[in-house]
Amino acid sequence: MKNPLLSFGHGLPDYSSIKAEHIKPAIQELLKVAQKAVDHALLPETKSTWEDLVEPLENATESLGRSWGIIGHLNSVADTPELREAYGEMLPEVTAFWSSLGQNLALYRKYKALSESTEFKSLNFAEQKVIQNSLRDFRLGGAELSDEQKPRFADIQDEQARLAKEFSDHVLDATDHFVHLIKDPADLKGLPEDAIAAAKETATSKELEGWAFTLHFPSYFPVMQFSENRELRKTLYQAYITRASELGSQYGDGKPEWDNTKNMLDQLRLKDEEAKMLGFANYAALSLAPKMARTVSEVDQFLEDFGKRARPHGQKDWEDLQEFAKTRLAIEKLEPWDMAYASEQLKQERYSFSENELKQYFPLPQVLNGLFGIIQTLFGVKIEEDSLPKWHKDVQSFKVTNSKGQLIANFYLDPYARPGKRGGAWMDDARGRRVLANGEVQTPVAYLVCNFPPPITIDGVTKQPTITHDDVITMFHECGHGLHHMLTQVGTLGVSGINGVEWDAVELPSQFMENFCWEWEVLQKMTAHVETGATLPKELFEKMIAGKNFQNGLGTLRQLVFSLTDWRLHSTFNPHKSEANDILSLSRQINNAIHVTAQSDISRWPNTFSHIFAGGYSAGYYSYKWAEVLSADAYAAFEEAAKLSGSILDAKTGERYRQEILEVGGSRPAAESFKAFRGREPQIDALLRHGGLA
Ligand SMILES: [Zn+2]
Repeated sequence: MKNPLLSFGHGLPDYSSIKAEHIKPAIQELLKVAQKAVDHALLPETKSTWEDLVEPLENATESLGRSWGIIGHLNSVADTPELREAYGEMLPEVTAFWSSLGQNLALYRKYKALSESTEFKSLNFAEQKVIQNSLRDFRLGGAELSDEQKPRFADIQDEQARLAKEFSDHVLDATDHFVHLIKDPADLKGLPEDAIAAAKETATSKELEGWAFTLHFPSYFPVMQFSENRELRKTLYQAYITRASELGSQYGDGKPEWDNTKNMLDQLRLKDEEAKMLGFANYAALSLAPKMARTVSEVDQFLEDFGKRARPHGQKDWEDLQEFAKTRLAIEKLEPWDMAYASEQLKQERYSFSENELKQYFPLPQVLNGLFGIIQTLFGVKIEEDSLPKWHKDVQSFKVTNSKGQLIANFYLDPYARPGKRGGAWMDDARGRRVLANGEVQTPVAYLVCNFPPPITIDGVTKQPTITHDDVITMFHECGHGLHHMLTQVGTLGVSGINGVEWDAVELPSQFMENFCWEWEVLQKMTAHVETGATLPKELFEKMIAGKNFQNGLGTLRQLVFSLTDWRLHSTFNPHKSEANDILSLSRQINNAIHVTAQSDISRWPNTFSHIFAGGYSAGYYSYKWAEVLSADAYAAFEEAAKLSGSILDAKTGERYRQEILEVGGSRPAAESFKAFRGREPQIDALLRHGGLA
């Protein structure tokens, strides 16, 4: 029997045939091959050249990275206890390999020799960048540490990877486990029809009578937003906000062993220790080495200044909401479980449309047509359905071709929420672009994963799934990452597409795409009412635009609290002199300084802050805001062009954007790419203007 994790070569694996028992033998084999390549690279007779040193290593480690990536992907979208166990079993060995590679002093010397050789000057820009990045990563990976320090450094990496996995498992378990059953239909008042139908299906699938609500976002959020039942909102909110904490069993169905409080402190201690070993003052300072921002205080200042500018707008939003809740909803004191509901009611009154009404205009297939249309017009490519091997029946695959009909890239779309699939939305790299030694191009492949509500069947009729405008924005966002990955023209794996792009600039192409979701020209083509087929009425669009920055002051403050908490946990916070509860205290202190409303007493939001404790965004959450400055300013170039050409889908500007931002990927610094596209340094004005914070 062939092992599907070993037999796909440069192609794509047969996902459906991958079983948990394939993981260990495949990964052990690939580790062996990779180690052999490392050993060969270190032989005295192996020359410090691209051909002899870099390329064979890239081949071997790419195979390992791709197989391991496939397993990680399946672990995220089709989790089973067996798969999780096999993944967890191999994780330490894989982590150990990468960390030993990063610390390999002999290999570091070989790379250094290459960087100082005459051959280096003959390499192309992308290849030079790969070597420079490697040297930097070697240093960050501990290559210059003493032999006494190295074992400890490796232990830190293992332990961090284990803790991150544990953190994320706890969040998933705490989210999966909770079910709230409603038996009396009167308790469903205010909820949209599809949320009720989904709750019915959930109950049926669990062999329960009634309507079952869970903490998965598509089940949880409609309750918070629409349910008139304050008790129901409170119950779900309290369970949601205490997930993976010591309060999880009191307010939900949590178990004490899923409490992430200690896990967080342990992670912060390890990160701080790692940073100090490498000669940095703290982890935030270390994290800046591969970023566009220069210093810890520059980022802190950026967030604080932003907070000051947003605060008056947040204060105004908060006063509006309180006033409205008191006079129109008879809610004297707004509780956290009232916020989304009161906001939605206020929005409906002020702009007289509901998210649910709007949602009827966004059937998923129509949204995809609209999205693909934009990409085709702006970037001169064609997108068509394809039939690649897949891991679930609901997954769709597509191919992207250029004007000559040549294949540029492929992508997968895994649209719907289901049990065993991690929540949220993301783009991941299934295969990177690379020009192989024989001159053939290995085209990039992307995974686009979302958690939209699946199609519902009522009385034997399947209704097209519709998604909220927020979901549309999410879809565009992830697709923006996908375009960065897929439209690259760089042929060197380490800097093609999103590879090697500075962390705080990586959200430029994704947030850039979100802007199109607010254009009348785009929305006309992208909407069709799920029952009547009518496009979005202009009147509704105008209300939507009027409501676009509705409560953006509060929303911005919330994001800034997340960003600053992350930043300070990794800089000013001293994890060695702190107790686990101090993390929560710091988040409260920052909240009180930045935000205009207090954090709920029982809120344990840091315990599910997977971005920084399990998603690799430690000391990096600020990058969303940082990159928003870049993306808003880049989009402003299209607005300027539209004033002349009459269309926001200006192909000339699109072509320049494609060439200067998307195609170059990580092969040159983001600051330079931005300047090449815009002709000047980034400015914050467009962001404040777009967000109603000017
Ligand atoms: Zn993103």
